[in-house]
Amino acid sequence: MPSAPEFQQTLGKIDGFTGTALHTGENVTLKLHPAPVDHGIKFKRKDLQDEPTIDAKIENLKTVERATTIGEGSVRVHTVEHVLAALWAMGVDNAIVEMDANEPPIGDGSAQAYVDLIRKAGVVAQEEPRKFFGARDTMHVESKTGALLVLLPDDKFRISCTQAGPNNKFTQFLSMEVTPAAFEREIAPARTFVYYEDVKPLMDKNLIKGGSLENAIVVRGEAVLSKEPLRFPDEFVRHKVLDIIGDLALVGRRIRGHVVAVKPGHASNADLARLIAREQTRRSAVAVSRPIPSGDGGLDTDQVMQILPHRFPFLMVDRIISFDTETKCTGVKTVTINEPFFQGHFPGHPVMPGVMQVEAMAQVASILLFKLAKTTSRIGYFMSADEVKFRKPVLPGDTIFIHAELTKSRGERLAKAKCHCVVNDAIVSEAELMFTFLDK
Ligand SMILES: [Zn+2]
Repeated sequence: MPSAPEFQQTLGKIDGFTGTALHTGENVTLKLHPAPVDHGIKFKRKDLQDEPTIDAKIENLKTVERATTIGEGSVRVHTVEHVLAALWAMGVDNAIVEMDANEPPIGDGSAQAYVDLIRKAGVVAQEEPRKFFGARDTMHVESKTGALLVLLPDDKFRISCTQAGPNNKFTQFLSMEVTPAAFEREIAPARTFVYYEDVKPLMDKNLIKGGSLENAIVVRGEAVLSKEPLRFPDEFVRHKVLDIIGDLALVGRRIRGHVVAVKPGHASNADLARLIAREQTRRSAVAVSRPIPSGDGGLDTDQVMQILPHRFPFLMVDRIISFDTETKCTGVKTVTINEPFFQGHFPGHPVMPGVMQVEAMAQVASILLFKLAKTTSRIGYFMSADEVKFRKPVLPGDTIFIHAELTKSRGERLAKAKCHCVVNDAIVSEAELMFTFLDK
């Protein structure tokens, strides 16, 4: 079972600042507003009639040339990735980004100005838990330009990035867990960098009126041109990580997974965001169309796996042998010497760890919870274990009978289960478990 839920967050108050828009060179005022739970992040064009909003979602992605542009209908907002990265990485799930132009102020080309603004506005917790996308299998996208992004299962959000310029100049590598503190310290100050050959034609056509050495580092051959010196020796790869965070925020769910990126760009970041969003849609559809088998006949392994997301070696129940009442059932698990936990617990004297028995009880209890709710579109979060007792060791070859009975459910949100494990007609462990039951 996952640990206790993290809650959604928004801003403490409205706050904003004025700066220069990169492409037009004009002044733009950006204001961040708090927003209710499950709102996500939306951009609002204050300068247009009826003040239209655009959902910061991958399905609204329009172009990825140099920067990320989203739009709905004929309305566009450009260069959304830095403000999105700051909001997402600083833990803001719900917000309105109001602007009186079609792009945010560029600041110094980093996410620093947005982080400062978020700090000023404050971040506050809300009442609904966050929604996550947990990577289960390896996913990847690859582009003709040599960009490769892989998403691996991980219980944290991590990014490992390799950046390489033309002829592999400026090759840099960074690997980190993305947390608000790490983002603020290591990533937010990293500025945009551009290659002179790429921006020269744009400058000639007057397409980046607000662009200057104050808001980008320009690389010309071996030379690095900028108003102030590099903020980090590996500032380029840090900015690549910033862009990945901003572009993946378009998924709209927190990611639990490890992104391994080689030479990423906005196009490949967006491809990965699209792939994740598609997989999430597929999972949601499967969850809704998967009824819980009814009747008292128990569940076989396949049916158990249709209900529980756990897989070997973390699936701790082989079968449900009976449903005694609506609120009571018995599962069974045969532990073999091949269980990975025996290798380290302990060589020469293998015993099943007590926490794995508690996990087995939690899994059987959550099957009852799902059955009661008649859907798997909700998740039971394991909140606490009380009165835990381990009475006898469980050894390789033992068959454990796991009994679970729901004793209390308060509303639809909280449930308690009394559980015990039996081997050879003797109780080996017992516990009282508490769950909260939430929408996926
Ligand atoms: Zn960027």
